[in-house]
Amino acid sequence: MAGWRIIGNPRAVDALTAAVSSGSPARSYIFAGPERVGKATAALRLAQALNCTADAPPCLACETCRRIGEAKFADVQTVTVEAATEGPAHKVIAVEQMRDVEATVALAPYEGRKRVVIIDPAGEMSDVAQNAFLKTLEEPPPHVVFVLVSADADRLLETVRSRCRRIEFGLVAAGEIEAGLTDRGTDAERAALLSRLAAGRPGWALEAAATPALLAKRDEALDAARALADMGLPDRIDAAEKMSDAFKRNRAAVDETLAHWLGWWRDVVLTQSGAGDAIANLDRRDQIVADAERCDRAQVIDFVESLRETRGHLRANVQSRIALDALMLRVPSVQGTAIGRAQAGSVHSSPD
Ligand SMILES: [Zn+2]
Repeated sequence: MAGWRIIGNPRAVDALTAAVSSGSPARSYIFAGPERVGKATAALRLAQALNCTADAPPCLACETCRRIGEAKFADVQTVTVEAATEGPAHKVIAVEQMRDVEATVALAPYEGRKRVVIIDPAGEMSDVAQNAFLKTLEEPPPHVVFVLVSADADRLLETVRSRCRRIEFGLVAAGEIEAGLTDRGTDAERAALLSRLAAGRPGWALEAAATPALLAKRDEALDAARALADMGLPDRIDAAEKMSDAFKRNRAAVDETLAHWLGWWRDVVLTQSGAGDAIANLDRRDQIVADAERCDRAQVIDFVESLRETRGHLRANVQSRIALDALMLRVPSVQGTAIGRAQAGSVHSSPD
């Protein structure tokens, strides 16, 4: 099992290990679960395990494992949403891509034992693409294994889902992520911080450990979250407009910003509730305590809820400008800002 090198989700890894050693894996899998918990890595590991030349696959050391890891192995293919060259259009996995897959999988493996086709994110297949794929799925060639990776597997057509073996992946405990990071050479203090900021997503933690820019983005997001609380309504609406424009260019980046805001204000509520030991943003404890003191707890709780709703709305393709305007109306107000005074209503501050 060590060969899989996946942080958390031992049940999923056990099921896949058993499938590989049985010699008769399912023809098609759905790896279901939240973003960045290890589904795509597990798909790659399964492809490695099915083609590895060592006794205990996947070894991650043989030529085959190495080349699959570098996406240079002819029989392992990932089908994904093709990058938009320009414009705001939200792209999908198109029917032409699935027709290409159908043609490729008809051929025997070129250099390995199994052809593995990973479709990620599978939920982005158009209905037409899914129906085209269904034909392949109904009579898959014996040398092929499909892996559909999806954070919203229930969006897949029932006819597709029913032909796949579903493997569930879940969020991973901070302690497991922390251990996984220190195993891979991250120093203890950084591993403690990243594992808490990861909110159960080892994929984010690993990327943040390797990419300092990711933590810099998080710092930017947190500074923006704090600044909003000091702003009057016109500035917040400006911020909503900018964010909506950014969303059209890069949905994931805006979702990430909102996730950082959610983590921040949840830490503020925890601190206001006397549970400051449980905060995630360990390196900014003083600022969290300051915000806990200067913001109203009911407003903060409402905003945390609003952030959750907004992320859901944006995923469901609600108009981003409308969703973000609504969000900005619910940012906690610091006493003394225009909104803070407006919301205080008829309560008059006493003159000096
Ligand atoms: Zn190997």
